[in-house]
Amino acid sequence: MLIPKALVSGASLAGPVVAFWLLRAGFEVTVVEQAPGPRRGGNGVDIRAEALSVIGRMGLSAAVRTKSVVTKGMRFVDRDDRQRGRIDKAGMERMVGSEDVEITRGDLASILYEATRNDVEYVFGDTIKALAQDHSEVDVMFAHGPPRRFDLLVGADGFHSNVRRLVFGPEERFSVFKNHYFATAGADFFIGEPYWTTNYSEPGKSVSVFRDENGRGQVNFIFRSQQPLVYEFRDTAGQKRLLRKAFAGLGWHVPALLDAAEAAPDFYFDAIGQMQMPSWSNGRIALVGDAAYCASPASGAGALLALTGAYRLAGELAAGGDFEAAFARYEAAQRPLVARKQANLFTGISVPRTRLAIAARNLFVSSPLVRLVSGPQSDKGARLKEYAFPGDRLTSAE
Ligand SMILES: Cc1cc2nc3c(=O)[nH]c(=O)nc-3n(C[C@H](O)[C@H](O)[C@H](O)COP(=O)(O)OP(=O)(O)OC[C@H]3O[C@@H](n4cnc5c(N)ncnc54)[C@H](O)[C@@H]3O)c2cc1C
Repeated sequence: MLIPKALVSGASLAGPVVAFWLLRAGFEVTVVEQAPGPRRGGNGVDIRAEALSVIGRMGLSAAVRTKSVVTKGMRFVDRDDRQRGRIDKAGMERMVGSEDVEITRGDLASILYEATRNDVEYVFGDTIKALAQDHSEVDVMFAHGPPRRFDLLVGADGFHSNVRRLVFGPEERFSVFKNHYFATAGADFFIGEPYWTTNYSEPGKSVSVFRDENGRGQVNFIFRSQQPLVYEFRDTAGQKRLLRKAFAGLGWHVPALLDAAEAAPDFYFDAIGQMQMPSWSNGRIALVGDAAYCASPASGAGALLALTGAYRLAGELAAGGDFEAAFARYEAAQRPLVARKQANLFTGISVPRTRLAIAARNLFVSSPLVRLVSGPQSDKGARLKEYAFPGDRLTSAE
């Protein structure tokens, strides 16, 4: 029997997870990633609810918990560094409605890569340059490697997906600006309490600092903008100027944090945006994770959507039959979760628009009222199905 061949573009979260389950479904899998090697570091991502089930079913719970970041909660301070509100991790979990394991995106990506590397062909430092499909295969041209043919192509290459652009058209057709920009960078500083995120907000602007006991941490800036700003996505110097302009004149530790962020090698700036597509597949090609349905960093649900989507996509393909029918079932199963997460952004809490809203937020998070709020259980009505994976080609899951 011929073994079907799948190509996955992107080796962050959705890519290796879909690769893992496609192996179980009997595919031979190649992953192409533009970065020169596996990802390291990066922001924290939250693994919760159904995403924890996917990790559990992959046999990776212990590995993920070992690498999880200790987080104690969030403090809200004024410009004189006086604490105005505080919510601990248990309170935050109640607000979102589930247990939450935080891990850096790089550590999670490394765990997923290690779980698949012996069985998947990983090609780093390359990208798809062009592709064409017909009823029986997908022809792929790479920027560096020789052309190859696959039965299936999965685009797991993030918000600025290359596969989406090649198959569905320009990003602007599907991206929805959510009126905020953010910047993030890793740096050393001794601001706030170890393992707490300390937040300083002015109307429409917010700076959060997370640090460990050694002062190693992450700073995040977020600011409101009614209109999209004009800048070049790859022009880091221009992005730094925009950030400085947005936070000019702010007190607290903002000037020092701007300096630290600008000097950091991993400085990252982007719009808070969502990907909203009428369909996530075309013929033998499907999208998964941020490439198809990014809910934005302000949803806290990126990892949840990437992991559940990857599992469902491969699970439906494992059931056999034609790809288009499997893609349709994947969409039907994943869309309700995506719709809920895209509708629930935390910008009201993290970037209040007025002084009154900042004061109300600080009072609310510190009051016993917060204990009465029961967040939307993300898996209401959308529990993860147990799929049958008949053609296991995986030798090294654990
Ligand atoms: C600052 C920030 C904070 C966040 N906070 C949270 C949070 O608190 N909780 C949470 O759950 N999520 C959070 N997220 C979102 C989360 O990181 C994403 O939703 C998640 O990583 C999506 O996974 P993905 O695999 O779909 O895409 P990505 O992680 O974006 O990975 C895409 C991969 O594709 C590769 N790639 C891109 N283009 C190409 C190409 N042309 N060819 C080959 N490879 C390519 C990239 O190098 C990358 O490895 C945050 C994101 C950011 C940026």
